[in-house]
Amino acid sequence: MANLEDCVHCGLCLSACPTYQVTGLEVESPRGRLVLLSQWREQAAARDSETRGWLDDCLDCRACEAVCPAHIPTGHLVEAWRSQDAPEARPARALIRLLGLFLGSPRGLSWFRRLARMSQTRWGDWLIRRMARWLPPGAPAVKAGLPTLSAAGVSRRDLSGDGTSAEIFFFVGCVMDALYADTNRHAAELLRMAGYRLSIPQDQRCCGAVHRHSGSPEAARHWAKTNILLFEHSEARYVAVDAAGCGAALKEYASLFPPDSPWYARAQRFEDAVRDVVELLAESLPPLAPQSDRAITVHDPCHHVHAQGIAQETRALLHRAGYTLAEMRESTLCCGSAGIYNLTHPEKSQALLQRKLAEIPDGAAFVAAANPGCLLHMQSGLSAQGGTQAVHPIDLAWQAYHDAGLGTPGSVTL
Ligand code: SF4
Ligand code: SF4
Repeated sequence: MANLEDCVHCGLCLSACPTYQVTGLEVESPRGRLVLLSQWREQAAARDSETRGWLDDCLDCRACEAVCPAHIPTGHLVEAWRSQDAPEARPARALIRLLGLFLGSPRGLSWFRRLARMSQTRWGDWLIRRMARWLPPGAPAVKAGLPTLSAAGVSRRDLSGDGTSAEIFFFVGCVMDALYADTNRHAAELLRMAGYRLSIPQDQRCCGAVHRHSGSPEAARHWAKTNILLFEHSEARYVAVDAAGCGAALKEYASLFPPDSPWYARAQRFEDAVRDVVELLAESLPPLAPQSDRAITVHDPCHHVHAQGIAQETRALLHRAGYTLAEMRESTLCCGSAGIYNLTHPEKSQALLQRKLAEIPDGAAFVAAANPGCLLHMQSGLSAQGGTQAVHPIDLAWQAYHDAGLGTPGSVTL
């Protein structure tokens, strides 16, 4: 793997980098961060809060990696720096620890959903106002972007598998399982409509993406072992996932283990089996005739387009479901969500969000985004404007197939 010394300072990454785009500062660019990392290592840069801030502003969006001719994994290098550089000093670490209480188990996720639902009541509103000074500054924006949560529980509780000989291990995720439970139900239904049989182990665990990006790989490694064991036991051919961030993390499981670990080869077999649901459905669902004249635009989540090379598959699925697409400019630029970046870096996160929303084409009824963080963040901005809504492409496809008489009536109103 290339390292920071391999940078040829060509600058091709600058225009791809969201933080360089909003600040125009070399130290907020991938090239600048590689210089800072090198100086940090050699103790040539001041190890002060300013330098730490320039490095920590990285969204880990991987846009620079996708264009770098030297294949430098800048996002991973910043992740490694986060885990080694006095991690206990980083506020994200405390937030991650708190989140870990909920994301670590199905029971924790049920509580996470209950608390999120409570936050949508008048009492929840009052409580959040009273507690504002103790909450991260980005918390009210996150709450504004939440989908309306029904009394139904997490998705895994009412998704049962199809018994033996299942081709697909369906990975329900954490935020998807708790907050976008309907999307998981729709994904499972579309996969079955496409002819797949599903295995949905109730004990599956978080992909570990947020922990890893914030410099806490231990939890990610622990949960990866559970997921690998469950996948091996299921004997499925694919691991299907409908969240870009989870998919990217699952496709990099082997890098959690040293090559001489017995887990390394098992993790490689696991990651080779991972497919995003849009990859599986784009070619396998029956094509529908154009049935909606309401334009849809696509936001490409960073961990779809940069980390997994998925972009056309989302459009192919929506075309197959009969939708008309209107492309937005800068569809691959980060929306500013980036895990918990919207909580830890609210100003830069909001600057990127406003830039993203300004590019939504006039008249677009929906902006399709296949990642819960992007959905939540973009909806927080869109709910203040009215009009366009942020929706998962799976929900849009599911609604189209149901409108065409395939399946049961749904909850997405077009
Ligand atoms: S594109 Fe790659 S090689 Fe070129 S400046 Fe950026 S990090 Fe360095
Ligand atoms: S990962 Fe994203 S934010 Fe970080 S340096 Fe690369 S392009 Fe910039």
